Amino acid sequence: MMVVILTPVDGIIRWLPRGFSCSLQQTIHAEQCAITHAWMSGEKGLETITVNYTPCGHCRQFMTELNSERALKISLPGRPVATLNDYLPDSFGPRDLGITKLLLDSTNNHYVDNSKDDLGSMAIKSANISHAPYTGSHSGVALRTKSGKTFCGSYAENAAYNPSIPPLQAAIIMMYIKAGEDEIVEKVVLAEKSNPLITQANATKELSSALGSDNFKVISLDIN
Ligand SMILES: [Zn+2]
Repeated sequence: MMVVILTPVDGIIRWLPRGFSCSLQQTIHAEQCAITHAWMSGEKGLETITVNYTPCGHCRQFMTELNSERALKISLPGRPVATLNDYLPDSFGPRDLGITKLLLDSTNNHYVDNSKDDLGSMAIKSANISHAPYTGSHSGVALRTKSGKTFCGSYAENAAYNPSIPPLQAAIIMMYIKAGEDEIVEKVVLAEKSNPLITQANATKELSSALGSDNFKVISLDIN
C-alpha cells in the first residue's frame, strides 16, 4: 500500500506549452494526477491520500473506482483523518454495478502485441492493463518527445463516466512528473479496438495537435 501526498496549487495540471490552448474538459485534477502516476508506476493499492484542500466531488467519485474503495483514508490539515466513505456517503460506484476488479488491481486484457515498432508495442502493453469494465473499450497510448523520451498511459474508466482518465492524459501525467513541463510531444500512438463502444481516437488526436504534434497514429487491438 502506498500513501500519496500532493499539493494542488492551482487545482489542475498545466497541460500545455505556452501559446497552445484546449478546452477545460481536457484537464486533470491533482488527485487524479497523483493516483494515475501511482497506478502507471505499478502500485497495487493506496492507503491514504494527503491533500491541502478537500477533494472536489469529481475527485471523490474518481476515487470510488480504487481497490481501496471507501476505506481509503483522506488526510487534510487541521482535522482528523477520515475515509472516502465519510466524504462521499451513500456513493455510487463499481460495486453497485457488480464490478469486482477495481482500479489498481492487477489486470491483463490479453491483447496480442502485433506492432512492428517500439511505440506501438508500448501502447498495446498499456491497453493490456487498461481499466474499462463498463464499456470494454480498453485503450493505451505511447508517446515520444522531441528529446527522444517515451511515456505510456492507460485508460481508467469510471462508473460515473465523466471522471474517467483518457490514455493520453495518463501518458502526459507521466511525462510531466518524470521529465518536467519542458518536454515537447513529437509522436503519439493510440491502441484501441477496431470498433470500440467508445473511441479515444478523436479526443487523442485533438489533444495531440494542441500539444504541438500532428504525428498521430491509431493501431487496432487484437485479442490473444
Ligand atoms: Zn478534483
